[in-house]
Amino acid sequence: MEYSELVKIYEDLESTSKRLEKIEILSNFLRKVAKKELKEIVYLAEGRIFAEWDKRKIGFSNRLMIKALSSGSGESSSKIETLFRKKGDLGLVAEEVFQSKKQMTLMGRKLDTGKVMENIRKLSELEGKGTVSKKISFISELLVNAKGKEAKYIVKTVLENLRIGVSSGIIRDSIAKAFKAEIKDVEEAGDLSGDYGEVAVLAKDKNLKSIGLGVGKPVRSMLALLVEDIEDGFKALGEPCQFENKIDGFRLQCHGSKGKVNLFTRRMEDVTSQFPDIVKFLKNVRAESYILDCEAVGYDSKTGKYLPFQSISQRIKRKYDIEDMAKKFPMELFVFDVLYCNGKNLMSSNLKERREILERIIKEKKKEISVSEKLVTKDKKKAGEFFKKILKEGFEGLMVKNLESKYRPGRYVGGWMKLKNILEPLDLVILGAEYGEGKRAGWLTSFIVGCKDGNKFLEVGRVSTGIKEKGEDLTYKDMTKLLKPLIVSTKGKGVGVKPKIVIEVAYEEIQKSSKYSSGFGLRFPRVVSLRVDKPSNEVNNLKLVKKIFKMQRK
Ligand code: AMP
Repeated sequence: MEYSELVKIYEDLESTSKRLEKIEILSNFLRKVAKKELKEIVYLAEGRIFAEWDKRKIGFSNRLMIKALSSGSGESSSKIETLFRKKGDLGLVAEEVFQSKKQMTLMGRKLDTGKVMENIRKLSELEGKGTVSKKISFISELLVNAKGKEAKYIVKTVLENLRIGVSSGIIRDSIAKAFKAEIKDVEEAGDLSGDYGEVAVLAKDKNLKSIGLGVGKPVRSMLALLVEDIEDGFKALGEPCQFENKIDGFRLQCHGSKGKVNLFTRRMEDVTSQFPDIVKFLKNVRAESYILDCEAVGYDSKTGKYLPFQSISQRIKRKYDIEDMAKKFPMELFVFDVLYCNGKNLMSSNLKERREILERIIKEKKKEISVSEKLVTKDKKKAGEFFKKILKEGFEGLMVKNLESKYRPGRYVGGWMKLKNILEPLDLVILGAEYGEGKRAGWLTSFIVGCKDGNKFLEVGRVSTGIKEKGEDLTYKDMTKLLKPLIVSTKGKGVGVKPKIVIEVAYEEIQKSSKYSSGFGLRFPRVVSLRVDKPSNEVNNLKLVKKIFKMQRK
């Protein structure tokens, strides 16, 4: 497909904020796309190049883009930088500089979507010497062959900042409408595969049901809603309930078949090579093939005490000295659910049945692998005692589960609830930041954080404590390194950033506030950890902020 055809759709989608109109535009378009191009066109419409679970990353910074724009247009880098400061968006800069340029044609052909995909994908494969100049040349090759508007969207796609208001809900509904499928079936297939590109192709073939659960293919994780107390849990889930210890580590989906193991985070990223210790623990699973839902948690090797997420989070991204890290930061695996066992999909079995299988196949080994503790009861008092015991053992709270509930990937459906003893810290996305002063000049030291509300992010506060000047914990330098490539606008000492980085923020209270766009502000906020395992679309929402606001007043 000519890239200009897709650009026309991007513009149509950008020109309306109405959800139904967007769905109309996108579904009419998808219906006409040839089957062999459909998967990639869906990715491009979502502003991505790979499926969500794919490990490969584009990794192209604003700084590189300035160079690519300069090399593709023949304008100086300083002119591009000046335009960037003025417009605050490199996509708009690209539009302007390539508007007036004479377009070249690639081998006599117009730029097509296949070539755009191919060049951007190559960015993720480059390694070693000369990588930077090769990366720049792949992008400038595209830009040289693009008209103004095409250049704009190429730049936005490469920088992973498409922003045409197409959420995954709109993609889902557009696929359903384009191929006359039920929204529910499209959604289920999306949750199973984490790949709406693949789902669109199956929907076109009227073959959505063929999408199956498979070992080695991650699925979205089931999620939990917050309850205020045990009584609330019974009210929401019925009696009796299954109570479990809530482990404060990070989610791991463990897949195994005939000894081969794959570990996936809740972002569906494959992290197998980072956790050779956990791969070893999984030898204690007595099943030919399995998919297990687990929480991995770090502990202090001297005291055996569980450690908060931030102390082991560095292991998730680690690429070298992995064995050393495993010794320095030992971890234990808690298994709490089984989705697949010996060739059988168990997602439609209820919790009681799944738990029985789980207990049968896991051979527990101290400080290596255990099944979450459980208490099935309808007695409020017994549940309360269990809660106290769990907190004493160093866990962060309880999970409350409905015994009849099926495993629903990616959903907050109410089959699971969580109960904590403290005001729940919030997972928030960084929307902006400010440079420090004095010896902190040059570092971004305070961060505007936001929660989700539908497709938007709304500010809920500014946080500057909890981060260190130096040392092993999260430092200003780390934050600055993470945020700098994401800067989209600059004003005085303040910058706006792409909403990509998620941090966990504790606070003493939530107050009403007209200072922030959510209408609420966090009092005494403090950064607890960098949530490298969470994508920005999974940050907490305004509904939860309101709920905690109400709860604390009780
Ligand atoms: P939260 O991250 O606070 O929304 O709480 C939900 C998370 O708790 C899940 O995504 C899991 O990562 C984690 N978790 C810890 N223990 C359990 C358990 N026993 N059952 C289910 N989830 C658990």
